[in-house]
Amino acid sequence: MEKITSLCKRRGFIFPGSEIYGGLAGFYDYGPLGVEMKNNLKSLWWKWMTKEHENIVGIDGAIITAPKVWEASGHVKSFVDPLVECKKCHHRFKADDIAGDKCPDCGGPLTEPRFFNTLVSTELGIIEGEKTKTYLRGEACQTIYLNYKNVLDSTRVKIPFGICQIGKAFRNEVTPGNFLFRLRELEQWDLQWFCHPSEMEKWFKFWKEERMNWYKSLFTHPENLGFYQHVKLAHYAKKAFDIYYEASPIGKEMEGIHWRGDWDLSRHSEFSGQDLSYTDPETNEKFIPNIVEASGGVDRTFLFLMLDAYVEEEERVVLKLNRKIAPYKVAVFPLLANKPELVEAARKIYDDLTPRFMAAWDDRGNIGKRYYSQDEIGTPYCVTFDFDSLEDKKVTVRDRDTMKQDRVAIGELASYLEEKLGK
Ligand code: ATP
Repeated sequence: MEKITSLCKRRGFIFPGSEIYGGLAGFYDYGPLGVEMKNNLKSLWWKWMTKEHENIVGIDGAIITAPKVWEASGHVKSFVDPLVECKKCHHRFKADDIAGDKCPDCGGPLTEPRFFNTLVSTELGIIEGEKTKTYLRGEACQTIYLNYKNVLDSTRVKIPFGICQIGKAFRNEVTPGNFLFRLRELEQWDLQWFCHPSEMEKWFKFWKEERMNWYKSLFTHPENLGFYQHVKLAHYAKKAFDIYYEASPIGKEMEGIHWRGDWDLSRHSEFSGQDLSYTDPETNEKFIPNIVEASGGVDRTFLFLMLDAYVEEEERVVLKLNRKIAPYKVAVFPLLANKPELVEAARKIYDDLTPRFMAAWDDRGNIGKRYYSQDEIGTPYCVTFDFDSLEDKKVTVRDRDTMKQDRVAIGELASYLEEKLGK
């Protein structure tokens, strides 16, 4: 973890939030490489959901909703963690995480467990004394339930169908930490699948497998992924599974597959006074759709992918990231920076590639160092223009994982890369 954290900062993946002011626990900023990788990841998820599955549509909901939403969802009452505080060092811990009655940090005595609401509240309005208290959403999925009827009325979807969303959520986590694992501002990707109550078993099984296969297609070591079955269940849930990254040295949960039944739509019907039932257009049967949820964390997936891809070899550190999510797809070098004919020709290749591929340019130091620098950030291919290239109009293309080199005709370089990158 320490190595990943320091690599992320040094190479511009992730920076600690508000660092020049001493930092703010539970907040991180994505740097130039991090944002490329995160965008690649989100775009893969989005395309998979909306293009590879008929009957899934997307939304992008607001972060602030009417406060009543959080009463209906049960968060205002039950989004709480019992905490204990050390009377000596004043560190706080989740009561569930503490095995005995002593502080794990200093051995001091602990207080009785107390309840804290983990929703992040805010105020709307500009006149002091007349502000309305509301909340930043504690989970992104609530805006999906709020818009379920709008989606039905404005599109051609019919049950069974899904609504998906990627968006920020906020939690006053009691123990933020472990880098991206437990944040206070986090991003979630959510699918809410609406179906007939009699089909819940079938769809639960389907999405459990489907989501696992998607994660397996992303990870370098899919054998490190597994399911964890919950034993303590919410009263409306028949079963719940987490998709785990088993090799994680910290927490393992990446996505929850949840049986939500009719809980969410029934509660919002009750609290809003709106009828959120569905009438089947063929049979005229009226019912409250049941929901299977697949709710995952973008930041946690990012962290686990970094842990999964990081390899130390004899002479280099390499991030064996899936090519589709690597921040740069290709780096272009002139063999020597002080030979204008090489620099000019390499620069032309870079300029040709860069509208089609996220490309890096490097002419510093020797070629070996440039390779290692790209390996460490997971760039799948490095292209070098050397003296032979002036004659044979070919360049050397080096593969990140095998370090094997190919000579490729400059005119065929773009299609070669496209094929290798699986576009
Ligand atoms: P945990 O038990 O770890 O607190 P949770 O069960 O409360 O997580 P959900 O409410 O099911 O999590 O949220 C769905 C997903 O959002 C989780 O699987 C996780 O990937 C992500 N997530 C939840 N809380 C955080 C957090 N504080 N920081 C980063 N990601 C989070």
